[in-house]
Amino acid sequence: MSKRIGIFGGSFDPITFGHIDIIERGLKLVDELVLAIGNQHHKSAIFTAKERAVLIADCIKSDKLKIVTFDGLLVDEAKRCGANFLLRSLRNNQDFEYEKSMAAFNFDMAGIETINLFAAPQYSHISSSLVRQIAKLDGDVAKFVPQIIITSLKSKLN
Ligand code: ADP
Repeated sequence: MSKRIGIFGGSFDPITFGHIDIIERGLKLVDELVLAIGNQHHKSAIFTAKERAVLIADCIKSDKLKIVTFDGLLVDEAKRCGANFLLRSLRNNQDFEYEKSMAAFNFDMAGIETINLFAAPQYSHISSSLVRQIAKLDGDVAKFVPQIIITSLKSKLN
């Protein structure tokens, strides 16, 4: 039987406990999970895609997890990796509307399905953008990200 490969695309700037929960749950559904970090650099970014990849590899140890950085469309990266489906997750209604239309676009463009997991209630308020804002204002983000991310945020921002 062919390998079941999922691809989880996103910015992960930085990875949070919410992402980690989705990755750990996603890993149970596949033979291989590709974590695809977009190379697009936005204004509020803290880490480069390469730095995020190293941090994620430090946070999650699994033989089934493959971490890549990519340019361009996620569906093209999915094809390159031989992925059978896209993995995403839903925190709230806002995510629902966005993810619903992303899933439809991606299906139209590449005929690839999206599987959305619901965010765990204890993490559903966490977003990387708020973590970045709090960290830039020297706030405590220990409830939202692993210690290694805190250390790296401190050395980047100081
Ligand atoms: P993007 O820039 O594509 O939104 P993110 O890295 O912010 O990338 O998010 C990637 C995916 O992770 C999205 O499906 C998003 O809903 C999900 N996600 C983000 N934060 C959480 C969280 N706290 N709990 C569960 N899923 C999350």
